[in-house]
Amino acid sequence: AGAGTDPLLDGLNPEQRRAVTARGPALLIVAGAGSGKTRVLTHRIAHLIREKEAWPSQILAITFTNKAASEMRERMQGLLGADVEGMWVSTFHSACVRILRREAERFGYVSGFTIYDSADSRALLKRIIKDLDADTYGFTPANSGAKISRLKNELTDAADHAATMNGSDPRERIFNEIFTSYEQELKRANAFDFDDLIGQTVHLFRAHPDVAAIYQRRFRHILVDEYQDTNHAQYALIRELTKPVQPEEVHGLMPPVRERELDGLGRIPGASLTVVGDSDQSIYAFRGADIRNIVEFERDFSGAEVVKLEQNYRSTQNILSAANAVIGNNFDRQEKRLWTAEGDGAKITGFTGYSQHDEARFVADEIEELRSEGMAYGDIAVFYRTNSQTRALEELLIRAAIPYRVLGGTKFYERAEIKDAMAYLTTIANPYDPIAWSRMLGTPKRGVGPMAEAHLANFQEAEGITFREAMLRAAEIPALGPKVRTTVVELGEMLERATTLALGDAAGVPQADPLDNEATDASPQYAAVADVLKLVLDETEMIVKLRAKRDPQDDARAENLEELLAVAKEFDAQQPGAGLLAFLTEVSLVAAADDLDDQSGTVSLMTLHTAKGLEYPAVFITGVEEGLLPHQMSVDEVGGINEERRLMYVGITRARKRLFITLASTRATFGDIAVAMPSRFLQEIPESLIDWRQSPGEVTSQGGTQSRALNASRSPGAGSSSASWSRNRDSQVSFGTGSGSAALSEPASGNMQSALEKWRERKRAAKE
Ligand code: ATP
Ligand code: MG
Repeated sequence: AGAGTDPLLDGLNPEQRRAVTARGPALLIVAGAGSGKTRVLTHRIAHLIREKEAWPSQILAITFTNKAASEMRERMQGLLGADVEGMWVSTFHSACVRILRREAERFGYVSGFTIYDSADSRALLKRIIKDLDADTYGFTPANSGAKISRLKNELTDAADHAATMNGSDPRERIFNEIFTSYEQELKRANAFDFDDLIGQTVHLFRAHPDVAAIYQRRFRHILVDEYQDTNHAQYALIRELTKPVQPEEVHGLMPPVRERELDGLGRIPGASLTVVGDSDQSIYAFRGADIRNIVEFERDFSGAEVVKLEQNYRSTQNILSAANAVIGNNFDRQEKRLWTAEGDGAKITGFTGYSQHDEARFVADEIEELRSEGMAYGDIAVFYRTNSQTRALEELLIRAAIPYRVLGGTKFYERAEIKDAMAYLTTIANPYDPIAWSRMLGTPKRGVGPMAEAHLANFQEAEGITFREAMLRAAEIPALGPKVRTTVVELGEMLERATTLALGDAAGVPQADPLDNEATDASPQYAAVADVLKLVLDETEMIVKLRAKRDPQDDARAENLEELLAVAKEFDAQQPGAGLLAFLTEVSLVAAADDLDDQSGTVSLMTLHTAKGLEYPAVFITGVEEGLLPHQMSVDEVGGINEERRLMYVGITRARKRLFITLASTRATFGDIAVAMPSRFLQEIPESLIDWRQSPGEVTSQGGTQSRALNASRSPGAGSSSASWSRNRDSQVSFGTGSGSAALSEPASGNMQSALEKWRERKRAAKE
């Protein structure tokens, strides 16, 4: 391709070009933030397709969030000027669900399996712990769930754990009982938890080489973004997928192996693997992410080529210098220095508020200031370490009438009424799931108590039938009263009708040939999800009953259910015929960074973890205090501070032009007001890069905190900040209740919470 005319290579620097055009079995692209890793990955895929080195269906691209996946897909379409049907661009979880849905029958599951979110898992663990009386040993759903998750990410199951545990420790033995029964219950429920999606796929591939062969042969190029945050299970999955295939393992529906597919050893060679990552941005150790995956890549994948990118195209030099200075304090890293041709740009703005409200007010004021300089709300993001920090921010943004949205915070699908409705859909798809079934049975209230539920569940288990069948046969359970029987049978009949509508007669996904694109990715024609949901909502009268209560809270719930119906309609329009299973899969995979709305025209609020991979012209990092960032929990952990420092680095490097770092000198948590110290990471940024604005709170006292000392020594003086002070003062007067301490006390929480909810609701409605 001639220089100057190739849209896939023009505008790339020589190293980036090498990363796009390199061929061979394995390629590692290591580079700092904003150096074009994701861009290079996208161009590389487009290049492979355009040069006819791969069909789209032979490519598997893994991104960290669903949002990143759809962005990558869109860019690819832009680059190629054509649709890229058949290509898998998805998260690890989505890719594994697709595989498991097709192959579930292979290992004793049914394709309609449920994916348990953490609340479902905890509900199950709660029951198990109670049954085993394990709480007397200090086991909680949270701590046992975290340990199980950690083990699963290491591909350790309960049997492995039993073999290696210290058997003389009673706590270990009891934990193993919890783990074992958790595994059994999941299996019985025809359900996978989130960690299983990856682990069970690996397990499937290892136990069934012929199944593995289908995917090993199909995917010729596997590309993974954000490789530094893969855990052991994900690593193992990649190893399985990139193995060479013995031709004799290929059979079944697949086209016969052709001579030209084989290498010198008579095998179909393993897929070529490209990974990109930045070990300085590894921030998921708590989920088992293993930085060694990237460090040891060259040893694991022999013949690997390595490309390093050092030029940053995202940020100004001041922002990069701050990022370099902070991350330079991590001693356990390979030195790399980012540079940019952008120029210094504006200095970083620092601000210390006297409370989190004062801090939030500064953020709101500066957002308006940026607006007046021509930035759009959508160009601005506000980051924080923990979700609890959003409240003060949201209050002030609402007051200032600044449109915003919380990424990963709304949790639409975690609301009770949404979970209730989803429980019906889940029971239709997976009639073996006791958690969904039990929730469904209890809402709306229909006079079927815990005893009746237990009788039904025992009958279901004894007969080895689905919950739906058990309900239809309620007459065979003598212990049930006549009224309960009628209710239960009627509900069972309703489910039967809904199931027939949703899944047709063949209640399952037809087996398809994964190598044949048309058959694989074109879904069978199922009924519209909205019709199924409508049937459920109508027959249960869920919405009608909520409306009849004439309570504004219940009205809001009814509206949420209508919103769910709208979501289903939208899904039906986007994926006609895809049906209920596809819908449930999509809902259960909606990841932290994904949301129902689009982000144009609103300020984005999110945790630092969610911010990974994104970029914004203006970024606020708030709560840069000891105890928050670094977080208190990390202080005592080995490597904890280094991980928090990487989180700070991720935050700083999201900013393109303007960076604001803010903190408060006192912060209220759980009703207590505590003095907050500036974060050690703040002190790591050279003074010359920060332009400090003084808070009025500083002038009026409150003891010699370190924060004041820091400000006093660094701040250039009150000067220009007085204007913003009086503005702050005004808004505080109108905000506070008249008492001077209003800003320091938390507002009545319940009211504020529901007011916030309503406001978000209205915002959502206004958009339609
Ligand atoms: P992160 O580590 O944060 O994930 P990254 O390395 O994936 O960052 P990208 O998001 O791919 O970086 O690129 C950062 C920004 O720089 C993007 O806006 C991208 O379009 C731009 N960019 C990358 N390479 C070039 C280039 N050669 N010329 C102009 N802009 C570029
Ligand atoms: Mg990236």
